Amino acid sequence: GKPICECYSCYTGTDCSLFSPNCPADVDSGDPLFLEPFWMQNAASSAVVTSGWHRMSYIFPNQSFISVELEKNIRKIHAISKNAITDGRYCCCAFGSTQLLNAAVYALSMDSYPAAKVVARIPYYSFYKFQTEFLQTQHYEFEGDSSLLKNKSDIIGDVVEFVTSPNNPDGNLRSPVLKGPNVKLIYDRAYYWPHYTAIPAPADEDLMIFTISKLTGHAGSRFGWAIVKDVKVYEKMMEYIGLADMGISKDAQLRALTLLKVVGEGDGKQLFNFAHQILRDRWKKLSQIFSLSKRFSLQRVPTQYCTFFERAREPSPAYAWVKCKRKEKNCTEVFKVAKIIGRPGSRFFVGERYVRLSLLKGQHDFDMLILRLKELVSQEYEAS
Ligand code: PMP
Repeated sequence: GKPICECYSCYTGTDCSLFSPNCPADVDSGDPLFLEPFWMQNAASSAVVTSGWHRMSYIFPNQSFISVELEKNIRKIHAISKNAITDGRYCCCAFGSTQLLNAAVYALSMDSYPAAKVVARIPYYSFYKFQTEFLQTQHYEFEGDSSLLKNKSDIIGDVVEFVTSPNNPDGNLRSPVLKGPNVKLIYDRAYYWPHYTAIPAPADEDLMIFTISKLTGHAGSRFGWAIVKDVKVYEKMMEYIGLADMGISKDAQLRALTLLKVVGEGDGKQLFNFAHQILRDRWKKLSQIFSLSKRFSLQRVPTQYCTFFERAREPSPAYAWVKCKRKEKNCTEVFKVAKIIGRPGSRFFVGERYVRLSLLKGQHDFDMLILRLKELVSQEYEAS
């Protein structure tokens, strides 16, 4: 019979070839489909076939939840990309980095009384708040913006600060806001790959979280990992994953292993070169359009020396973080009217004057964004 075709949003018809001219550019989500062409080019070597009898057990032969081979390959990719030190550290795998966010909060606040305050500096990724509140225990509570606790006297009891570097939404490399003996840090390093940012030095923090979603683009496989210095914190995180889910999917691990092996082939630079090139070109196109506008401004992302590329590297952030400079109350609405669907600034706990546009989606979504943006910015010229 005929294959069932799932069309991308702007296309319809039995073979998805009919383009709808009124279609909006949907650049809301951080779905990393810009990497799909890389995996099409590497279709055979990245394929996973599993026989029915394979990996049926809860555990691996060495009694562990995690494949030794996979862990080896994770460390190898960090060494190739020069983005993190993993020697002598523990590696804790989970269902996406999402599961690790709370596993880390749990591990760092086990002995906290009164409840540890969990904070992140605005603008920040909404899951820190939503998940911490959803899974609240007596050991921790979500407090909000780190900057509100900046004075030492504001810190009573333990504090857990999420440090997102590069940051979602603005792509900036960040340092913690808070310091002190009772401040514990969770570094969310989801975007600390040569695709998105210069790598000035390998990250070397006590607790760093990574994800395959932004490395290979396989967000649907739900696989992430944490690199952890302290054995007690590592054990607590493993306890969390054991109790919450009795380990993680062996199928996801097999897929992750296969993908990482492809990434590590040859000089190991193929994927990084590919991803950087696409995002750099997208950023260039986007900046050019915004440079013609007086109404909107883009975040500044510096050209910085990168130890991976061994040169100063052009910016290539995952998202455009746009500000409406006129007194328009709702920036997201302005874009929506222009048929561009972005994520509102309020989702990052800053006002309505900001909107985030994803640069990670497939080519058709990006092309649509450029088309609609040109229309929007040219209105400024028609009006004057
Ligand atoms: N951290 C940050 C900063 C993110 O932007 C995302 C996803 N967009 C995640 C964590 C979660 O990623 P995942 O669960 O797919 O690994």
